[in-house]
Amino acid sequence: MNVHEYQAKEVWKSFGIPVPPGEVATTAAEVEAIARKLGGQVVVKAQVHSGGRGKAGGVKLAANPAEAREKAEKILGMEIQGLRVNKVLVAPALDIAHEYYLGIVLDRKAQLPLIMISREGGIDIEEVARTNPAALVKFHFDPTVGLRPFEARRLALAIEPKPEVAFQIAAILQKLAVAFCKSDATLAEINPLIKTPAGEVLALDAKLNVDDNGLFRQKTIEAMRDLTAEHQEDREAREVGLSYIKLEGEIGCVVNGAGLAMATMDLVKFFGGQPANFLDIGGSSDPKKVVTAIRIITRDPKVRAILFNIFGGITRCDDVARGLIQAVAETGVKLPIVIRLTGTNEAEARELLKSQPGLTPAESMDEAVKKAVELAQA
Ligand code: GDP
Ligand code: MN
Repeated sequence: MNVHEYQAKEVWKSFGIPVPPGEVATTAAEVEAIARKLGGQVVVKAQVHSGGRGKAGGVKLAANPAEAREKAEKILGMEIQGLRVNKVLVAPALDIAHEYYLGIVLDRKAQLPLIMISREGGIDIEEVARTNPAALVKFHFDPTVGLRPFEARRLALAIEPKPEVAFQIAAILQKLAVAFCKSDATLAEINPLIKTPAGEVLALDAKLNVDDNGLFRQKTIEAMRDLTAEHQEDREAREVGLSYIKLEGEIGCVVNGAGLAMATMDLVKFFGGQPANFLDIGGSSDPKKVVTAIRIITRDPKVRAILFNIFGGITRCDDVARGLIQAVAETGVKLPIVIRLTGTNEAEARELLKSQPGLTPAESMDEAVKKAVELAQA
């Protein structure tokens, strides 16, 4: 789960990381009022679940309240990486003497959190990582022990030679490491972490991704969920209880069970195709899930064929068949659909699907996947 910058800053604050003050608004008039209250120059920042807002024109400085209003009118309603801006953060504009980068990600391969920090922070950090990887200092830490103070200091001194500044960075890094672990985060990032001309260090930005599987014990963060900020597909999928992840291929997959879904994707690749998604309709077989699955998949213009691979255990094949018939009627889908059903009530399912045009039945998984790949490439 993703949260907005202003929400991640609340999390930073709760762990003692210094952040500038600020308020959130949804209209230009509110922005003007907040700017007046703050006084002086302000920064208006788009609140969307995406990075690169600065480059996209979603972060703008304003000299006075009237200008803040103008800038807000431009930013509110704009689209950044396919996401509409409904909210902005208004904060006092700070003078920046230096921009650093602090990030912690979950390194799944090492099974440890990985700290990445750099002296070259700011909006070009991806470029820095690509062209000058040596500018990124990396360090794994053990979450059961936490980041030790001397480790934090050593890391900070690698990106800032002045001890009085480096020790502020070290303190922030240690708090970020605690925030990362305590929040069940998969990503916690401050870019930029700034030094002001007075030598004070604070987090000008905040990015936090939390593992969905940790949300049951992250009630404060779960309550931050902003449904209007999510991609429509992700929202619809979650509402009916589908696990859906969009991919870049041409074969839409509807499968029950995460293991079978992954095996199906492997087989698609094995037979020369590319899956358009990972989609697990789960154990129960509410026809609504199938309808939603088809609706989501057919919205992806890359999809050339749909592959159903259902192993009926708790999931009943006839329910999936009913869902499929309903989905075809509701969405008017014209794409070829290959369907392999086996297990509970499979005979009933076959009977139901017999009269359905546009469906290609298959007996085995291999046969189904081969047919789907053929149809997608036809
Ligand atoms: P991002 O592009 O989505 O990562 O958004 P950021 O919050 O990182 O803002 C992008 C850039 O805008 C920062 O790297 C800063 O250079 C600039 N910026 C943001 N807030 C301020 C501010 O208060 N003062 C100044 N001078 N620049 C700011
Ligand atoms: Mn940033």
